[in-house]
Amino acid sequence: MRPYILAETNWKTIRDYPVDLAVLPWGATEAHNYHLPYSADIIESDKIAYEAARIAWEQGAKIIVLPTMPYGVNTGQTDIKLDLNINPSTQALIIKDIVRVLNNQNIFKLLIMNSHGGNDFKPILREIGMIFPRMFLSYCNWFTALNKNDFFDIPGDHADEMETSLLLFLEPRLVLALENAGEGYEKKIKIRGIREGWAWTERKWSKVTDDTGIGDPRKATREKGEKYFKIITGKMAELFLEISNADLNNLYE
Ligand SMILES: [Zn+2]
Repeated sequence: MRPYILAETNWKTIRDYPVDLAVLPWGATEAHNYHLPYSADIIESDKIAYEAARIAWEQGAKIIVLPTMPYGVNTGQTDIKLDLNINPSTQALIIKDIVRVLNNQNIFKLLIMNSHGGNDFKPILREIGMIFPRMFLSYCNWFTALNKNDFFDIPGDHADEMETSLLLFLEPRLVLALENAGEGYEKKIKIRGIREGWAWTERKWSKVTDDTGIGDPRKATREKGEKYFKIITGKMAELFLEISNADLNNLYE
């Protein structure tokens, strides 16, 4: 039983367990090329949050990891079988309810640890922050915290070499042999501003990729996943610890 994981702990322990930071991992349930499970983002959320919290807790962080939210924003994937979309407005309601609980119980720090590119928490946290001014509301995208080129050969952003390597390390029984994987080829939009990244429209997923993946996963290995996991959880732990230790009345220098 790890006391910093709410799903594992109990009332006897939690009554006297000091908490100042709640971490809410947020995933998605969606197709990940042919070879990775629909729960890939959930597995990454759980394992990264748990390991980072362990490191931070051992260094004195007063931290609790809440159960991972399994559904994410998949509005561009409505025609991909059993990709389970929840809307941003639904996310906002869920977050507001959770923030109200934390605020009522004098737990004034929340970090949403996001595992899914379709989730965008910034506007939601801005709005909820107006309602609960005592709360420190934050989020991070762990998948952008490191330069992936330092760890992996082929760039990508969904069911790619990085995610496949991670899953080979974290949950290999749920990864099909790599010969099943598609090449994760991404068709690029014809509009130049969007292609360059300074203009945006939602990618219509089934038009962009044939196998639901973006990024060739076939150079993935368990070893690459293990190495990346070790560094990313260390970096996340640092963030957890810094937020836990932060004085909310003295945040700036
Ligand atoms: Zn994913």
